[in-house]
Amino acid sequence: MDLVVAIVGRPNVGKSTLFNRLVGRRIALVDDTPGVTRDRREGTGRLGDLTFTIVDTAGLEEADSESLEGRMRAQTDAAIEQADIVLFVIDGRAGVTPIDEHFADILRRTSRPVILLVNKSEGKAGAAGAMEAYGLGLGEPVAISAEHGEGLADLYEALMPHFPDPTSEEDVVAEAVVVDTDEEDEEGLLGRPLKMAVVGRPNAGKSTLINQILGEDRLLTGPEAGITRDSITVPWEWRGRRVDLVDTAGLRRKARVEGKLERLSVGETLRSIRFAEVVLVTLDATAPFEKQDLQIADLVVREGRAVVIALNKWDLVEDRNAALRDARERVERLLPQIRGVEMIPVSGLTGDGIDRLMQAAFKAREVWTQRISTGRLNRWLSAVLEHHPPPAVSGRRIKLRYMTQAKSRPPHFVVFCSRPEALPDSYTRYLVNGIRETFELRGCPVRLSLRKGE
Ligand code: GDP
Ligand code: GDP
Repeated sequence: MDLVVAIVGRPNVGKSTLFNRLVGRRIALVDDTPGVTRDRREGTGRLGDLTFTIVDTAGLEEADSESLEGRMRAQTDAAIEQADIVLFVIDGRAGVTPIDEHFADILRRTSRPVILLVNKSEGKAGAAGAMEAYGLGLGEPVAISAEHGEGLADLYEALMPHFPDPTSEEDVVAEAVVVDTDEEDEEGLLGRPLKMAVVGRPNAGKSTLINQILGEDRLLTGPEAGITRDSITVPWEWRGRRVDLVDTAGLRRKARVEGKLERLSVGETLRSIRFAEVVLVTLDATAPFEKQDLQIADLVVREGRAVVIALNKWDLVEDRNAALRDARERVERLLPQIRGVEMIPVSGLTGDGIDRLMQAAFKAREVWTQRISTGRLNRWLSAVLEHHPPPAVSGRRIKLRYMTQAKSRPPHFVVFCSRPEALPDSYTRYLVNGIRETFELRGCPVRLSLRKGE
């Protein structure tokens, strides 16, 4: 089955032109006049070796009783509902308009991947629009010209990671259990499922932990192993919040019970990590932070997921204060990328600590989803520059001019600077640590890009 890619954006930004370009046929009507009635179109899009179903949502501009905003909202919602990937198009010549911002608000709330396209960027025309587009909080904008076919290689680069790749079966470093939760809270996350994966090396106690969370031995009574490689879903509730538990390791456990020792590959673990928002990294507290544990944690961080560490088998730990101190010290030293990560002692066997673990998971998603205003960031940046400016390189000062959060989930910041290539890595790390501390982004990978900006 092809992935569905939807094109959304306000009227006249070039959606139909892009649709035509990707479909390679002139089936969409392109008209300069806003107000032309059009139906929603679907076609088979191709870009490089990628093939997908492409949906153009143009047609919003039909004037009738409903407000443009209302119609856009409905159209966008429908497109998102149906899409695996959303291409959000703005007009680089016109810059970011209030309607674009309205769209961005809707799109930031979706769990679907959104690629921000700054169209009409042929030549240098879109440069200003591209910089402004960062402020929409949808990640790095891709400058294209649908009409002239420019920037399509960059679009390919942006699309490609969202397509399934035939992952090779590598050595086992990890196994995974995936939990899919729905939550309602005051953070505006209403209706958006908290997706959680439980990972850890074999025997860390993932299955036991999940069974305990569920409160019954469900994983052992799942469908026959080997019948399907698909995950199974068990609905449950944590403190009144609906939770769907999607389990893959449970199937393997079943297989193990039957004597056919089978393990999940790195590829499968990766898939569950990519599916998740928050990943519980399960450590065996009697032998924590082994090489495999660090590899797994690193994988989760590289995939940009929020992390909570479960120090499992806590019932077996004798000197608990020492064990906790030791674990804390090792995280700071071995996993500086997630400094301050929550570590929750639990026992899958007795159930101790599970409430705290789930609380930490919900909290971790909040941090991961959080957006920090450009105003706060730039106030912080000026204070930093005053007290600890970047060093001069080849006798010239590097100027950091402006900073914004380009994306959340995980938080990704962009700093515009006079000579990005000259800024020492140590200074970038200093900035990242400062951001993490000041804005309390605990247990969360923090990304920072430097861009040239005068
Ligand atoms: P839609 O309403 O978003 O579907 O926009 P259309 O695809 O109908 O395009 C609106 C107008 O923008 C048309 O006049 C297109 O020719 C023009 N257009 C589309 N893409 C580009 C582009 O890359 N560069 C320039 N300069 N114009 C474009
Ligand atoms: P998985 O491979 O990560 O799914 O690990 P399992 O859940 O199969 O557990 C591996 C072994 O550790 C089993 O023998 C479990 O009984 C044991 N185990 C799991 N959790 C705990 C725990 O919290 N305390 C103790 N004492 N043993 C545990």
